[in-house]
Amino acid sequence: MKVLVLNCGSSSLKYQLINMENEEVLAKGIAERIGIEDGFVKHETTGKDKVVINETLGNHKDAIRIVLEALVDPNHGAIKSMDEISAVGHRVVHGGEKFSGSILITEEVKATLEECSELAPLHNPPNLMGIYACEEILPGVPMVGVFDTAFHQTMPKSSYLYALPYELYEKYSIRRYGFHGTSHKYVANVAAEMLGKSLEELKIVTCHLGNGASVAAVDGGKSVDTSMGFTPLEGLVMGTRCGDMDPAITTYLMEKENISSSELNNIMNKKSGVLGISGVSSDFRDIEQAAAEGNERANLALEVYYKRVKKYIGAYAAIMGGLDAVVFTAGLGENSKECREAVCKGLEFLGINISPEKNDVRGERRIVTTDDSKTKVLLIPTNEELMIARDTLALVK
Ligand code: AMP
Repeated sequence: MKVLVLNCGSSSLKYQLINMENEEVLAKGIAERIGIEDGFVKHETTGKDKVVINETLGNHKDAIRIVLEALVDPNHGAIKSMDEISAVGHRVVHGGEKFSGSILITEEVKATLEECSELAPLHNPPNLMGIYACEEILPGVPMVGVFDTAFHQTMPKSSYLYALPYELYEKYSIRRYGFHGTSHKYVANVAAEMLGKSLEELKIVTCHLGNGASVAAVDGGKSVDTSMGFTPLEGLVMGTRCGDMDPAITTYLMEKENISSSELNNIMNKKSGVLGISGVSSDFRDIEQAAAEGNERANLALEVYYKRVKKYIGAYAAIMGGLDAVVFTAGLGENSKECREAVCKGLEFLGINISPEKNDVRGERRIVTTDDSKTKVLLIPTNEELMIARDTLALVK
């Protein structure tokens, strides 16, 4: 059985075709610049050369059609016919309070997802466009929605409620939802496997440090708190997002700078984070390099970033009443030994002792603490696509 996993963003679409018999990736790629000029699809079938297909991608349907053509292409394709695709798994960012697990997509589910779009206006509409496009191009093929928010639906109310008038939660569903749930769940499971323990007996802090970044407290396999909130803006400092700050800054800035709420939103989401502090870039590779060359603001951006991650690890150890493991994953977490070392420095009181030799690694599963470190730190490459494919398979079976 072959499952197509789709992750539709506003102007891009990532995909993987996975053979569920052995969980091998048959092909993967990305369609970019959807809805703007100079669209293209970068496609790679395992064991064959990468190809770039330059084609105008007017909308998500165009993009999916070109992706499917690439998948069945006699030269660079991975399958003979589209009939080989047994199911499609869609990443959906926001499932609101309605979905605490993945779900087979039906008319009713689509209607509920439309409602959830209000909570994630940037993310859910393109996810839905992908669902509608597949329905047309692959009629009859079952589809499953896998939600970024679902894993965090186990949080107790004391973790997800904001201290605003309670009526606002009732009226507008304003609460912490949390995101990157598929990734936090995946790496927590792998951590238990690597430690040879059952997930139920472990208290783990999972750090998903990519372009967007979040931390989760996973107690006995359940998310009990997480740093992203009502939207993916809260919590850690990110590439271009500010994360936590005094909420009063928003009204102060709007008055002082005479800017609208959407202009402020743009500043907080697109111009802040390590880009805002450093003035260099949102990409940690550039910032690490600039810092190494003596750029003080780049160095400051890294210090602010590391301190925020460290603060959440301490906070989550406190709310779980202990800590067995910390996991680093996603672009920065998987690739930057400097980041892992800086975040863990000073956490010896929590039983964490990083081994510089073991930590000198990127992109592979490894325990990076010393053998006698009471609390383990693990590097685990995330694999959200595989999780989506597994959930899809389980539901269509
Ligand atoms: P992701 O969202 O998981 O794809 O992560 C993307 C981010 O990871 C990039 O913006 C970089 O900031 C960071 N990243 C990727 N590779 C490296 C690396 N080799 N060293 C440091 N940071 C990296």
